[in-house]
Amino acid sequence: MSEYRSSRFAGIDVYVPGEQPRDRKYLKLNTNESPYPPSPAVLEAVREASRGLNLYCDPTALTLRRAAAEVYGVEPEWVLPVNGSDEILNFAFMAFCDRDIPAAFPDISYSFYPVLAGLHGVRAVEVPLRPGFIIDYRDYLGLNCTIVIANPNAPTGTALELSDIEAIAASNPKNVVVIDEAYVDFGAKSAISLTKRYKNLLVTRTFSKSHSLAGGRLGFGIADPGLIADLTAIKDCTNPYNVNAMTQAAGTAAFRDNEYYMENCRAVADARDYAAGALRDLGFEVTPSKANFLFARHPSVPGGELYKLLRERGILVRHFSSPAIADYNRISVGTMEQMKSLTGRVEEILASL
Ligand code: PMP
Repeated sequence: MSEYRSSRFAGIDVYVPGEQPRDRKYLKLNTNESPYPPSPAVLEAVREASRGLNLYCDPTALTLRRAAAEVYGVEPEWVLPVNGSDEILNFAFMAFCDRDIPAAFPDISYSFYPVLAGLHGVRAVEVPLRPGFIIDYRDYLGLNCTIVIANPNAPTGTALELSDIEAIAASNPKNVVVIDEAYVDFGAKSAISLTKRYKNLLVTRTFSKSHSLAGGRLGFGIADPGLIADLTAIKDCTNPYNVNAMTQAAGTAAFRDNEYYMENCRAVADARDYAAGALRDLGFEVTPSKANFLFARHPSVPGGELYKLLRERGILVRHFSSPAIADYNRISVGTMEQMKSLTGRVEEILASL
């Protein structure tokens, strides 16, 4: 830290992203990316858009918003495209939290939420999960906080029912409820339809997992136009051209090819269910997951040790050192072949202990 850093940011906790190592080729099961490439139409759209890079992109991303609106079943004014869904989470903390409005989220969830609370000087109300890593909607009724819940949750993979989300939104009419649907396409139910009834409900989406665009950085906020106007104001005050021309084109083409991506999500869900069964057969405890990752621990190998042994064998998974979950690893789901290779290596490791 330099002597120039503002005192406002002196003690901030910094988000640590998953590793993206370049030292050798790994089977990357650590950052929940899609194992499938973007569709050919997306690659072509990016090439075409790159010809116009001398000009600024559309700051309103209208074509992309129209394509998103069609797929999500809303009007374009209900959609704000962003530079990865991390950006809309940041906007939401800026727009809907302050010294008097804390942010509430589960104590085991996406580690970016407490980082954003720290960055913006917002009090974080961390709501304990129930046994089995369950989010109990009753813990979020009438909280008087901006509520942020990942559904499915990360890194656990467990999902809420829509009726639970509705109860949370209905019981907090004076506060915004953010449902982070980064992983919803792998089997949970989307709350987008509820945004029509609850003007305090903001659903966030990303193309990093289900739509093979992690490197393109594209996410969305979907909500009543009132909330979208607030978020757009923050966007225009920080980075008016937040989604670059190539990514706008890629996203529009991806929406037009949505069935290709949904088919990929179904294949990932099949590979997940296969791998969960195979890991359970090897003695793992695996949390029921509706996401594109598994959260698993084995009684005879500490989480950090398994992470290390897999890494030595060319497989990267994600280990979190916080004590409540240090026994576990979060394993991203790839293709069926990749999951067979993972379970094969795990079997070797267990046999060698
Ligand atoms: N929400 C959750 C729950 C996540 O796990 C992630 C991935 N790190 C994100 C949001 C952010 O995704 P992105 O910024 O790539 O859209």
